[in-house]
Amino acid sequence: MADTHPPVAVPFATGDYTARMRRVVDSATAAGLDGVLVTPGPDLVWLTGYQPTAITERLTMLFLTREHEPTLLVPTLERPDAAAAPGTADLALTDWRDGADPYAAASTLLRPAARYGVSDSAWALHLLALQHLMPSARFASLTQALAMMRAVKDENELARLAAAGAAADATYLEILKVRFAGRKERDVAGDLADLLLGFGHEQVDFTVVGSGPNGANPHHEAGDRTIEEGDAIVLDFGGLMSGYGSDTSRTVSVGEPSARVREVHEIVRLAQQAGVDAVRPGGACQEIDRAARRVITEAGYGEQFIHRTGHGIGVTTHEPPYMVEGEEQELVPGMCFSVEPGIYLAGEFGVRIEDIVAVTDDGGRRLNSTSRSLQIVE
Ligand code: ZN
Ligand code: ZN
Ligand code: ZN
Repeated sequence: MADTHPPVAVPFATGDYTARMRRVVDSATAAGLDGVLVTPGPDLVWLTGYQPTAITERLTMLFLTREHEPTLLVPTLERPDAAAAPGTADLALTDWRDGADPYAAASTLLRPAARYGVSDSAWALHLLALQHLMPSARFASLTQALAMMRAVKDENELARLAAAGAAADATYLEILKVRFAGRKERDVAGDLADLLLGFGHEQVDFTVVGSGPNGANPHHEAGDRTIEEGDAIVLDFGGLMSGYGSDTSRTVSVGEPSARVREVHEIVRLAQQAGVDAVRPGGACQEIDRAARRVITEAGYGEQFIHRTGHGIGVTTHEPPYMVEGEEQELVPGMCFSVEPGIYLAGEFGVRIEDIVAVTDDGGRRLNSTSRSLQIVE
């Protein structure tokens, strides 16, 4: 297959993580929180670079509060791994032994009647135990209380997202050369996964191959349907490279497209362009949705554009901010998100075109650069 040269990312420094923790405490305070409680998952990776090899029922929790220095509580047996993570050098590391009560240890770092943001991925087991021990404390989901925590990317993060985007683009250019007609969706999805890994991804999150009528279901992944001549096919794939996400969609035609496929594809292409053109610092997320949706609605397909226009991307492939009506969050340079309008015609086919866009000082910059015109495959 393709010649591969995975780029090497510049490592994050301890200071990068320390600065993130400080920023989170400041923004939590501004949001009326007394602190933030972070459990294993994307928030912890972003804040400390620490990702336990197995996320177990044992409590691991990072405490970012106003009263205490940043403190990471871990099971004793995982302490060496936690200490080796790049972002834990400057924080207080403390541990609890099997048989001890980790929630009692946690509660010494908390105030009884305070309000804390908690990672969305925290296990109910842990949060319920804390609630039981601290009945007058209040806990809020971090995406409710501090949705923009990871939204604005620094230069190193932008470079990783751009590299992941370039790898996804290379994947698309290669998949255009494979045979589609007569093969199952699942087989093409396997090719996409192999290519993403070959071009440097360490993790594949999704490989959508929605052929013919399956393309009309935006979350169809890939199945046993055999691809036929004349099918429109939605391809949507992405994952993580150097810890940062890719996510791109193109719709291709197997052989000559029908006039209807051509027409619908062109509307989506123009809608996607309008969405990208609407990206500017100081604007609001919902303006991007409005700009893309207007093109599709005016063409008469508004009812068939059944999802929001985009989502943020970073250490995960789907996260806030969301490009959706009602989201007034201001666009800030360094934010990265998808612009991915689509039209879904039940029983016929679907079309979606998606690029990741970074907000710049004066507009938006696409992190995907392959052709958005309708490509014909064999
Ligand atoms: Zn999705
Ligand atoms: Zn996608
Ligand atoms: Zn997406």
